Amino acid sequence: MKLDTSNIIVFLGPPGSGKGTLSRLCVNRLAWTQFSTGDLCREHITNKTELGKNIDFIIKSGKLISDSLIIKMVEKELEKQFKNQSKVILDGFPRTKEQAVALSNILKASCFNQVKLNIVKLDIPDSDIILRLSKRMICSDKKCQTIYSLSDISLRPKVENICDNCSSNLIKRIDDEIDAILDRLKIYHLHENDIIDFFHNKGHKIITLSVNRPVEDIYRDFLTKLNIN
Ligand SMILES: [Zn+2]
Repeated sequence: MKLDTSNIIVFLGPPGSGKGTLSRLCVNRLAWTQFSTGDLCREHITNKTELGKNIDFIIKSGKLISDSLIIKMVEKELEKQFKNQSKVILDGFPRTKEQAVALSNILKASCFNQVKLNIVKLDIPDSDIILRLSKRMICSDKKCQTIYSLSDISLRPKVENICDNCSSNLIKRIDDEIDAILDRLKIYHLHENDIIDFFHNKGHKIITLSVNRPVEDIYRDFLTKLNIN
């Protein structure tokens, strides 16, 4: 493997572009670490940390968790991860230019000076996303939540409508309904160019992966472009 220092991998791509699937492959096959801001929120709440108590209160009052709180959480987690040499996939972060700026600022700290940031853009036309999401199924078990796709042979469940991992029923996500998909795509595109421009201007190479093809092809291309053997 040629990625020999600590690395952060940021997958940028619209909902349904396969960020989750690609992340899972990297975790399972390369033993990389992955975390999402959602996972972190739940972890802090469960462990009743200071941050967790704050987040719990905000969620219960029906408000949105602020960028500054999310950034603080990500910074803490990165500090923990990079005590050892590691490869960390950030899932769903940064979502806005403000968060991208914050990530860049976090990485200026001396404890992160060996960490390389890799921006990987998953490229796919909106029309394909809509088609893909409308064929997506998810395991109904909250602890499992494995994602399947009826449009990709390698991502289909072995038995129709049954999860390969835990045998629970598969369901369609309500937010995969068409109006919700269009809304999410609109929000995504609103921020995508800003984030990419920001990282590009900072001198980071942006790796583009065309993801309108079978997942194993995408994975191989990803390894090649990151110089991983
Ligand atoms: Zn399952």
